[in-house]
Parts: sequence; C-alpha cells; structure tokens
Amino acid sequence: MDGGLDAGPFGPWLARTMAVLRERAEADVPCDGCTACCASSQFVLVEPDEHEVRAHVPAELLFPAPGAPDGFSVLPYDEHGRCPMLGAEGCSIYDHRPRTCRAYDCRVLAAAEVDVHVDTPAVARRVDRWRFGIDGDDDRRDLVAVRAASRFLEHHAAELPGGGPPPTQRAALAVELHELFRGGEPTVDDVVAAIAARRPRR
Ligand code: SF4
Repeated sequence: MDGGLDAGPFGPWLARTMAVLRERAEADVPCDGCTACCASSQFVLVEPDEHEVRAHVPAELLFPAPGAPDGFSVLPYDEHGRCPMLGAEGCSIYDHRPRTCRAYDCRVLAAAEVDVHVDTPAVARRVDRWRFGIDGDDDRRDLVAVRAASRFLEHHAAELPGGGPPPTQRAALAVELHELFRGGEPTVDDVVAAIAARRPRR
C-alpha cells in the first residue's frame, strides 16, 4: 500500500458510524499506537452521567463546559496540546474514557474529504493515509453521497444554524445526512429540517 492504511470496508464502516452518531454506539478505530487526536489541543466533553470517567479523572482537571448546562465538564489539554490523561503508553484511563473519545473516529474526515491540516495537522496526516475498501455500487453511491453532503454543508454554511458546524463536526454531519444526498442535491430547507430532526445528543 502507498503509505496508506487500511480503513476497512466502507459499507460496514458507514453502518457502524451511523450507529455511533445516532445511537451512541462506540467507534472501533484501528489506531494501532496513534494518539494524534489525544494530542491535538482538543477539549473533551464529559457528560453529567459519566460517573466512571469522573471516578478516574482527578477533579481538579475537570472544568465547567462553556455554554453547556450545569453538570457538563471539559477535560482540557496541557501546554503541549496533550490530554492530561495521555501517558507514555497511550490513554491512562482507556477502559474508563469519556463518550467523546469512544465516539471519535478520524476516518469520518477521510470519508467526507474534510481538510484539517491547519487545525490539527497530526490528525490530518493520519487522515491522509486512510484507504477504504469499496465493494460494489452501493458503497460507491454512499461515498459520493457523503462527499456531496460535506461540500454542501461547507458551501451553504452561512444558511445553516449557527453558521454551520466546524470541520470535524461537518464531516460527522455529512455522514449522518448522506442518505439525503443519494438522489441528488436537496434544498437548504430540506437539510435544515434534517438537522433539526436529529435525535438530541443530550
Ligand atoms: S487520530 Fe485517528 S488513528 Fe489516531 S488516535 Fe485518533 S482516532 Fe485513532
């Protein structure tokens, strides 16, 4: 492989990622020693009911999440952009990690062709290497639909709630809304309605 990494077959990945986004299933990323997203200056949201997480993260490392209801916290990053729970051998609380970490999958960026070289270059280098297996017309149609959704969300950002999502969330939203794009481009109103109809995450 050309420096590439096997991202797995696209169809099963898409089905599982839809379950992650809609039903809070866990992502299953072949990180294989990579910790790029854990060292990319990202705040990690910790929800009020994540008691297991809170039992394993020192209380002084958790701060109220800006703009979120009472009880939501964030785990910040250190002066090197690293999660404070990231140790020499990887995540030191892996079995007790937050939902945010369990759901994160940098392959959404590869699927949606979202460029994060400016914001998170180490993650971008990993994203550049992923190669999905495409098995048949359904896979091809769905990959085209994800990428069409991603471009649409970027081009129409000003017409979307909140001015459109930032890059990683845009990639995830493109995956979540891709079915709308299977038969061509929907209207902005259709996309806004689909965004509003998504199951609340909290
Ligand atoms: S950047 Fe991707 S491959 Fe690397 S640790 Fe994060 S999810 Fe895993």
